[in-house]
Amino acid sequence: MGALHLFAPAKVNLVLEVLGQRPDGYHEIASVFAPLDFGDFLTLTLLEEPVVRLHVRGHAVPAGKENLAVRAALLLRERFGRRGGVRIDIEKRIPVGAGLGGGSSDAAAVLRGLNILWELGIPSEELAALGAELGSDVPYFLWDGFAWVGGRGERVEPFLPQGESPYRLLLVKPRASLATKDVFLRFRSRGFSRSDGSRSRKLREALCAGDWEALPELAANDLEGAAVDLLPEIAAVRETLKELGACAAFLTGSGPTYVGLFRGGEELSRAREALTRELPFVREATMVVRPFAGNTSLRK
Ligand code: ATP
Repeated sequence: MGALHLFAPAKVNLVLEVLGQRPDGYHEIASVFAPLDFGDFLTLTLLEEPVVRLHVRGHAVPAGKENLAVRAALLLRERFGRRGGVRIDIEKRIPVGAGLGGGSSDAAAVLRGLNILWELGIPSEELAALGAELGSDVPYFLWDGFAWVGGRGERVEPFLPQGESPYRLLLVKPRASLATKDVFLRFRSRGFSRSDGSRSRKLREALCAGDWEALPELAANDLEGAAVDLLPEIAAVRETLKELGACAAFLTGSGPTYVGLFRGGEELSRAREALTRELPFVREATMVVRPFAGNTSLRK
């Protein structure tokens, strides 16, 4: 029986703009996603029995059908009538409910992996549509690169930044987690202001022109006010990152992880040491800039 090892990267949102609410209840967003060199490791092993088994090491995640990786496998089996089963092993390194897209990335890895192992031959667009049924960020992870993302996440326009990023990132997650649904609910009920999408467009243009200096200026997240409202203590993380030398500090996804952008290695190390003493998850990461590969048909 075949087996496949997969890397499921975490992402950060360099810009996240909320444009409005759609008739179906979802919010229309415009965002710039960047993949990291940090993520989960998955192994898929085909089984004779028609079961989907899950084994997780590391951060605790839901077992069984609530797990997005399991749901991805069940969805493919149901739609494409596979008789056999699969064992999914996850080394879960991405913290859960952090805004780093861990669940969506695992689901996308399972879709990609089983498409190969079960020899389904599902074209990229169809795989992305299946991914969207599982979660708004799943289509993005089927791409895995820098991308402008719109709609509720189903519009993925990959792009290739020029030059090299001069930044290292420090990811800082406080003890608590936030559910995306709660943050959007708070965003709506408190009437936080909406954006027109121009920030995301500007950042994409700047990075495509190799203007990395624009990143600290443009990095921002419309959900920050709502996330801070729900977890007031996270505002201190942002302040601490700035005090310790980050040229920008911003929330990723619906939080509560903050991303500190550092130019200098020394400042980054000092900040990492200082924050590690106080908070449970502090990790260095790098954004991965790589040429397009694989899912070329996702390119619009
Ligand atoms: P995003 O950045 O896409 O908003 P997130 O990083 O904040 O997502 P996740 O870690 O993906 O959030 O988890 C979101 C929810 O999904 C949690 O309630 C978690 O219990 C559930 N979940 C299901 N499967 C997984 C999985 N494989 N990994 C992580 N979370 C999972």
